Amino acid sequence: MFYPSLMTAEEKAIQQEARKFVRDEVSPDFIRALDHDEIKYPREYVAKLAAHNLLGLRFDPKWGGRGLPWTAEVIAEEEIGVLGTTLWCAFVMPSIVGEALHVFGTDDQKERFLKPILQGKLISAEALTEPRGGSDFFGATTRAELDGDHFVLNGQKRFVVGATEADVFLVYCRTNFDENAHKYRRISAIMVERGRGVETEYIYGLMGTRGGGTGRLVFRDCRVPKENLIGELHGGALVFHQMMIPERLTSAAASLGVRAGLEVAVRYSDKRHAFGQAIRNYQAVSFMVADAITKLDAARALVYMAARAVDTGAAHARRIVSEAKRFATDTAWEVANKAMQIMGGIGYTEVYPIEKMIRDIRLSQIWTGTNEIMNLLIQHEYYNEVLAAVAEVRNVELDARGRNGENEKCFTDEDMWRVHAEND
Ligand SMILES: Cc1cc2nc3c(=O)[nH]c(=O)nc-3n(C[C@H](O)[C@H](O)[C@H](O)COP(=O)(O)OP(=O)(O)OC[C@H]3O[C@@H](n4cnc5c(N)ncnc54)[C@H](O)[C@@H]3O)c2cc1C
Repeated sequence: MFYPSLMTAEEKAIQQEARKFVRDEVSPDFIRALDHDEIKYPREYVAKLAAHNLLGLRFDPKWGGRGLPWTAEVIAEEEIGVLGTTLWCAFVMPSIVGEALHVFGTDDQKERFLKPILQGKLISAEALTEPRGGSDFFGATTRAELDGDHFVLNGQKRFVVGATEADVFLVYCRTNFDENAHKYRRISAIMVERGRGVETEYIYGLMGTRGGGTGRLVFRDCRVPKENLIGELHGGALVFHQMMIPERLTSAAASLGVRAGLEVAVRYSDKRHAFGQAIRNYQAVSFMVADAITKLDAARALVYMAARAVDTGAAHARRIVSEAKRFATDTAWEVANKAMQIMGGIGYTEVYPIEKMIRDIRLSQIWTGTNEIMNLLIQHEYYNEVLAAVAEVRNVELDARGRNGENEKCFTDEDMWRVHAEND
């Protein structure tokens, strides 16, 4: 958990509140029923979160948020993350869809969508991924063509959490059909209300993250009023880039909730005996614990730093958010697996919750942008930063004994011929 000694009073308060909610308001029966697909969507749970004013924590109180910083929100997300991916996703969806509405929406859109979403009266979902692919987002083929004062939508989205239950979908559609249009000027973000022309199908046998209503969305001549456009026409790229902050930071923060699995394994290894002593006495076991908690703390620190970077509008915020998403979710996967290893065979059964955690957490490395896509972004941003850096830091290249070895510093053909000529 985030350590109280390092937190502000505001952060400590939200941590306590979220922890209490997780402990007292969500029954084990409910979690088991979700995992067994006996519940299709946790609507009452969302209503409960709303009743505790826990949705969209960082949004303006005018629209139902609490105006908290990102640092407080990520702390709450780790606590909610303990409940597993389905319930953390239902918790963060208003934060993700809400970001688009909060930053780009008109007052009318905030009144019609953001407010009721944060009140738990409307369930929201986001529809980016298509059957033809998720990573190549700007290649979206779902079409929204203008016809008078309406858009007419045709196309498909898949893997939409909440598809079967949501009242309103944030859908990215192609609106600019000019083949020469820049990829950032092709797409628009549109709020689509469930109704005629919107079909949903619950079709997946998911490994985990069950009970979240994940499904396919099909639009057939679906008419949506022009007023539901978020931001500018063909300006979806801006909305997308803004939304990717909560999309990824919430995944990073909530995946830290896997700490609960490590705690189960630690308690188990303290009690379980083999060859006459508690297994925690074997370094092969206790060092797995040391490794897991060290990495989890490192991930937590990165998540917190990313949250601060976003709060302060830091230039490198996007890179740190991508790093946090990749590192925290990779770490969560590793920690869940270590917890299982520590527990031996019983960890692989339903007697303990570790097998469910593993089934759930695996998704975190795939959704909200795969970790390979995170790497793509991290390296891209970092190259730009380093190559654009002004000389305000020590030039350590001058510390090298052979710094004047210009003959060895050949990067182009011209360098080669210059060296060749100088050596003649
Ligand atoms: C349970 C579940 C819930 C989901 N919820 C939602 C949701 O609510 N809304 C939504 O819109 N989407 C959702 N998704 C979709 C998810 O975000 C995508 O699955 C993910 O972005 C990857 O897209 P893809 O599955 O099409 O894989 P692809 O894009 O086809 O990628 C396949 C593989 O290729 C790699 N790859 C692709 N391009 C590159 C590249 N340029 N460089 C390196 N590697 C690359 C990927 O990393 C991956 O390993 C959900 C998915 C699941 C399974």
